[in-house]
Amino acid sequence: EPAPLPDYLARLNPAQREAVLHGDGPGAAAPLLVIAGAGSGKTNTLAHRVAHLMLKGADPRRMLIMTFSRRAAQEMTARVERIAREVLGAEGAALAGGLDWAGTFHGMGARLLREYAPLVGLDEAFTIHDREDSADLMNLLRHELGFGLAEARFPSKSACLAIYSRSVNAQAPLDGVLAEGFPKFRNREAELRRLFAAYVEAKQDQGVLDYDDLLLYWRAMVGEAGLGAEIGARFDHVLVDEYQDTNRLQAAILLGLSPQGRGLTVVGDDAQAIYAFRAAEVRNILDFPGLFTPRARVVTLEQNYRSTAPVLAAANAVIGEARERFSKTLWTARGEGARPGLVTVHDEAAQAGYICRAVLEAREEGTALKDQAVLFRTSSHSGPLEVELTRRNIPFVKFGGLKFLDSAHVKDLLAVLRLRENPRDRVAGFRVLRLIPGIGTATARAVLDALAAPGAGVAEALGALRVPARAAPFWPAFRDMMLNPAEAPWPAELEAVRLWYEPHLERLHEDAETRRSDLLQLGQIAAGHGSRSAFLTDLTLDPPDATSDESGVPLLDDDYLVLSTIHSAKGREWRNVFVLNVVDGCMPSDLGTGTTAGIEEERRLLYVAMTRARDALHLVTPLRFYTHGQRARGDRHVYAARSRFLTEAMLPLFERFAWTPQGTAGAAARPAVQPVDLRARMKDMWR
Ligand code: ATP
Ligand code: MG
Repeated sequence: EPAPLPDYLARLNPAQREAVLHGDGPGAAAPLLVIAGAGSGKTNTLAHRVAHLMLKGADPRRMLIMTFSRRAAQEMTARVERIAREVLGAEGAALAGGLDWAGTFHGMGARLLREYAPLVGLDEAFTIHDREDSADLMNLLRHELGFGLAEARFPSKSACLAIYSRSVNAQAPLDGVLAEGFPKFRNREAELRRLFAAYVEAKQDQGVLDYDDLLLYWRAMVGEAGLGAEIGARFDHVLVDEYQDTNRLQAAILLGLSPQGRGLTVVGDDAQAIYAFRAAEVRNILDFPGLFTPRARVVTLEQNYRSTAPVLAAANAVIGEARERFSKTLWTARGEGARPGLVTVHDEAAQAGYICRAVLEAREEGTALKDQAVLFRTSSHSGPLEVELTRRNIPFVKFGGLKFLDSAHVKDLLAVLRLRENPRDRVAGFRVLRLIPGIGTATARAVLDALAAPGAGVAEALGALRVPARAAPFWPAFRDMMLNPAEAPWPAELEAVRLWYEPHLERLHEDAETRRSDLLQLGQIAAGHGSRSAFLTDLTLDPPDATSDESGVPLLDDDYLVLSTIHSAKGREWRNVFVLNVVDGCMPSDLGTGTTAGIEEERRLLYVAMTRARDALHLVTPLRFYTHGQRARGDRHVYAARSRFLTEAMLPLFERFAWTPQGTAGAAARPAVQPVDLRARMKDMWR
């Protein structure tokens, strides 16, 4: 008689258990794909698999776990720890502590590259450019090469970066990328090629890598005979969540790590692919089984554990209209629950009012703010709501929007740290030197050339520089700071740099006081990172989010409402979910230029939003909304219609009602008027 299953396996359904137990015998496991719908327990199954493999003797230090965000990776290791603790107590928890290769593709790439830098011709102290820095470097080179100065119709700096990045991530030739995504720049191919060559050379000269390089170099490393084998041999298991949103490069990295697929587990849902705009390739997940001989084992999961039946029915109806047929049926045992709301409001102000009211009511009824989320297509859509929440003192945290690091003063301070880490980083250098009055482009170039002098030559080169009179009072402090990059140990160094920045902060910003408190907060964040280099890498790759709290850092034990872009809500769930602006023009956005593929991606986006809800879902449609300068049409109010993704036939799945703010003065206080179609009346007159 077989022994009874341990609890952590017994509570899984048979398909989940099959995925968890797959290949747990002696020898390396054959590749495994778990492809299943939203809320079917994919992430949970992955966590159980990691725990199970570990409990069966797999070495946690030889497992590589890659998820969509650093937060998701932390949640994953925390889950594994809970399971391991359940089985083995403190010993299990200690075991899970060995899982230190868990993070995003980019984060793990940065770590491996730092380690192997000397072997592949990179400087170990490389700094990482975020998208804005990359665009700035592109711009610098564009001007140096004289492109697009005389005539218009050369791509903007961000378009240049987008073209470059798509070509790299999709591993597609430039002419194809231009023809498909940027047809009006097709005749610029030769210039773009020169620009990109200069861009690559500049990054190498300056010892900087951009986001794409983290994958590109990693891909190249695993493609090398000796090095590839060495890196592949470090990991017995490589496990990836949200695989539908990986790009060609990431798929190539996995194959490089394990050409036969041994020890590979990937998990995802093709109906939730929402990153095609960043060159993600849904074919990755569909093609996965066929990459290997014998083919990868495929497990599908069909029970949804997240949502009530009415919520799931509405979400299924929306995705059921997709052009692509997703071969998954989801059912839930959670039969009870209300139909999702489809709420009509007059405009975005009323939308904000409705949400504040509904959120507070739900809290009264026992749903904490933390168990509620408001989701939107684009970060700017939450503006009116943020104002209203602030006015009513409802605390919130915003994910995927403006990052704490996007503010000028925080970027300034980080640029100083980056320049100390890597004095050849010219984008950081220009940013820092711009702070000093009197230093123009020519002087800045001379200073940066001096800083790039080898070894002890820097002091001499800086000493020989003549700076303009206006810069003179600030010069000694800058020079001394750059000459002593290691004067204070980390994180005390940050304080030293902050003191250097202080007079500039006062000079440049009227609201120096609030900005100063941001920088002090940055000091607190710094304390959690072991070194300047680790701090800079982590912050650049996965910046902290902005909050209603002025400090910019969430107070984790407070109750707060979550505001998030749909993209950043991936993989998460809340009891109560609101979706803003479910109107044509927002969802789908970009009506005028949307391609079929683009529209289909927007449909999946709405599906992702709806499937975040556990108990209650509310879709809000303002009759009027404000567009924010899209497509050169400028900011303006437009009249909106319910999103085309909600067809007439679906309406019975929703509880429909109009909501008007009560007790406000003026026009908004007028009672709700039911719309009538007078055209029909006119025709009836003659019947
Ligand atoms: P998404 O597609 O949104 O990423 P997912 O498939 O990864 O969703 P999970 O987040 O892992 O789904 O699980 C959804 C919810 O269902 C979670 O609250 C999880 O704890 C719960 N769940 C998963 N499997 C089971 C199970 N066997 N029994 C009970 N609850 C489960
Ligand atoms: Mg998941």
